[in-house]
Amino acid sequence: MISFQSYDFQNKRALVRVDFNVPLDKTTGLVSDDKRIRAALPTLRHILDNGGSVVLLSHFGRPKNGPEAIFSLAQICSKVSEVLGAQVLFANDCIGDEAFGMSKNLQPGMVLLLDNVRFYKEETAGDLAFAQKLAAHGDCYVNDAFGAAHRAHASTTQLASFFPNDKMAGLLMQAEIENAQKVMLQAQKPFTAIVGGAKVSDKVLIVENLLERADHIIIGGGMAYTFFKAMGGQIGASLCEEERLETCKEILERAKDKGIQIHLPIDAVAADRFAADANTQIFDSDCIEDGWMGLDIGPKASAAFQNVLLQSKTILWNGPMGVFEMPAFENGTKEVAFAVAKATKNGAFSLIGGGDSAAAVQQFELSSKVSYVSTGGGALLEYFEGKTLPGMAALAA
Ligand code: AMP
Repeated sequence: MISFQSYDFQNKRALVRVDFNVPLDKTTGLVSDDKRIRAALPTLRHILDNGGSVVLLSHFGRPKNGPEAIFSLAQICSKVSEVLGAQVLFANDCIGDEAFGMSKNLQPGMVLLLDNVRFYKEETAGDLAFAQKLAAHGDCYVNDAFGAAHRAHASTTQLASFFPNDKMAGLLMQAEIENAQKVMLQAQKPFTAIVGGAKVSDKVLIVENLLERADHIIIGGGMAYTFFKAMGGQIGASLCEEERLETCKEILERAKDKGIQIHLPIDAVAADRFAADANTQIFDSDCIEDGWMGLDIGPKASAAFQNVLLQSKTILWNGPMGVFEMPAFENGTKEVAFAVAKATKNGAFSLIGGGDSAAAVQQFELSSKVSYVSTGGGALLEYFEGKTLPGMAALAA
């Protein structure tokens, strides 16, 4: 693979695929979290500081029928400019005469943001001819969109083929892969994986892959109750995927055969309805009364999980322990987050999977107290499921 760090960007227009799919505040319409923009900054600065210009290519939301103002990247252009500390030009299309005219005239040090690449259905279809059009914007191609690396879309995969000698991974993409590999390929033992979130079905593949690597697997969140039900427990009105009961049994069996410890939350904070102001009660997780649903792990489970985490040398965390968006059910996720931070302080390497786990760590102001917070939710999950990410493969081909 061509090295981004040693590539000569002098007088070159770098077409950079970024993931600027950032959230907007519903009332002000302003960017409410600019983490993804800031994450691309080292790559963009490197190109500009080395005499190149930048053409930014990104998706934004999921437009279905062509251009729509609510999906336009025009809404974030001033934020990109603020983060970069440089003027950012905007083209209100990602192809077309005007956009090509603007990229053609870029001078070293200049930045152009193209509008949402998903305004064309050819993007998600991975259309080669569309990618060829996009390729005209740059002399080289840099993919820094780890968050979109699991998508075989035109701008994340096909585009690379038009730059056989000038395609590379940006600094964010490199950091993401490096940190993921530290856990996937070079984990120091004991290696503990924390898997949470709503559904077993979303996490089966990652748990199966972790059965080949981890020493401990902590399971929390809504998905834990299907495991308790599979073991014959009473889970009241807690989340349960009946069609996954067999899967849970198989996972428990396989873990036992391999000597991997699966830690389920022994108690639960249960609610009488799914609401922030519901009545709550602590139950053993396998004895939850009818009408009550487990929405967080209980104090005994938190203490047990903390114990395991403090003895770990490598930690991977994907998925919250409960409905952490509601204060009444955030405690388990918070305690686990603090335990991960403490283990990190004691020398463990901790990787926080994107999405909800990253949001939780941010909510508890612990992002700087863990080793690495990934910007990729689905991409990181697929990496840990053992899948090849098309975005990465296209750079190596
Ligand atoms: P996921 O996207 O699968 O990682 O799931 C994250 C979502 O799971 C969050 O929005 C949580 O509120 C939700 N969640 C976590 N624990 C529970 C639970 N015990 N019952 C219902 N939802 C939960």
